[in-house]
Amino acid sequence: MRPRLIVALLALILVTVLGFAWQANRTVEAYNETAAGVLRDYAGLAADEFARRSMAQIGYYGYFTEINRLREALNSGSGLRSGNADRNSPVDVAFSVTQGDPPTITFSDNTVPSAVQNYVLTELRARTSTALPEFGVVIDHAVIDGLQMTFAFSWVDAAAGFFGFVVNRDWISTALQTAFAEKNLLPASLADGAVSNDLLYVRMLDRSGGILFQNDTNYDVNGLVEKTLGGDYGGVVQGFRVAVAIDPVLGRSLIIGGLPQSRLPALIAIIVLATVLLIAAIWQLQRELNVMRMRSNFVAEVSHELRTPLTQIRMFAESLLYERLPNAADKQRALSIINRESQRLINLVENILRFSSSSQAEHQASPSAENLGLIIQSVVDEFQVLAEANGSSIETSIAEDVITDVDADAVRQILLNLLDNAVKYGPPGQTITVTLEKKRIGLASISIADEGPGIPPSERGRIWESYYRLERERHSAIAGTGIGLAVVADLARMLNGTLRIDDNAGTGARFSLELPL
Ligand code: ADP
Repeated sequence: MRPRLIVALLALILVTVLGFAWQANRTVEAYNETAAGVLRDYAGLAADEFARRSMAQIGYYGYFTEINRLREALNSGSGLRSGNADRNSPVDVAFSVTQGDPPTITFSDNTVPSAVQNYVLTELRARTSTALPEFGVVIDHAVIDGLQMTFAFSWVDAAAGFFGFVVNRDWISTALQTAFAEKNLLPASLADGAVSNDLLYVRMLDRSGGILFQNDTNYDVNGLVEKTLGGDYGGVVQGFRVAVAIDPVLGRSLIIGGLPQSRLPALIAIIVLATVLLIAAIWQLQRELNVMRMRSNFVAEVSHELRTPLTQIRMFAESLLYERLPNAADKQRALSIINRESQRLINLVENILRFSSSSQAEHQASPSAENLGLIIQSVVDEFQVLAEANGSSIETSIAEDVITDVDADAVRQILLNLLDNAVKYGPPGQTITVTLEKKRIGLASISIADEGPGIPPSERGRIWESYYRLERERHSAIAGTGIGLAVVADLARMLNGTLRIDDNAGTGARFSLELPL
């Protein structure tokens, strides 16, 4: 139950982190939206200002002035004048119409297409009336023969006739350029006067979407605010579309604190980190649980391993005590079993003691000059009884006079554990080979080889861990606690020795301990 609770808590923490990241991202998004809204408002402001100035340039300084000039020219009898081909005059072609049946039309230029002439005579004439409109000028936008055209016209007495001109479209662009260049579109009070027109993108389209004006920018235009203009100022720009965007650089100074950067990569990094930590925690928990499980198995295994020799000792001791074994050979056998089993008990207890103290403190070796061959021989002699019980025989090949400073007890314990495993996991009747050789100058190698199933190479690293037993042992009858090799590894470290596992002639295992001399 506990581990599940811990996993649940960890998962909850992850969910909290996710929620937190989501919230943080939302906040940034909301801030971004506000910031973008502010920029749009400013762009709208600039668009309105540009529209207002455009109307003044085109209407007041352009069409209205020109109509007055035309009126005076007609009054003084100096006749109609076309505008020059350049962009200086709003007049493309001037015209005057005298009412009558039929009316007569005069153009300042005789290349005017008949469709335009007809338009003036029918459409424009129909729009004359007794009252002059505001500003004294009528503006008419039309598409004739697929071309966008604008007419400005007026009259003194509509019953007598009217006059006006076809607008020079190139001049509109000139007027818009003037309107733009006049002064900054956004007020100087914004961002301490830093808002020059260079930081704006401004565009004006005519009614059919043709570009009349746009300024050069050196940034990617987005967040364009577009407005369609209405009929103010006599309708001089009616149906035109103005669009404005603000350079993001300016956006930064217009908005207090600047445009926020996206925090998404950082948030994703945090989430990934939290997930990795969660996985690591669960993995660690899993390992801890495994150790706990192995520890409880260990207690059961130890009890079992203790009970088997104790039962044997007790059984044979009782037999001797109550004289149930009349024959001398049987008595001898009982005694040797008691001897063997008590030795096994001593080994086991020795291992457990080593093991429990090794997990608490580092062992200190107490080295003295020893003859390794003698130590090995005495261990083998001592162990012979246990080997024989399994039908194993031990062969030795011991180099003489290998003398080194070493902790004899530690070497003994290592040998006993390795021999015990060789007997335990090897088949009955096998030959166990114990070797001592001088490898090269300054290095001795003790090895114990058996004819058992060996250790798969993939397991050779883990086999030294506490409580670790090979998977195959789970289903086998061979009892074990999984601490024997852990003690070996600990003692070898204490002796500054190196442990190796190799194959022994294809099948068995060969454990070697290399010791510095
Ligand atoms: P135990 O023998 O009590 O299980 P050890 O730490 O001595 O614990 O050994 C760990 C495991 O290594 C054993 O369970 C066994 O699977 C494997 N092992 C050890 N020595 C040998 C060997 N000589 N031959 C085959 N397998 C071995």
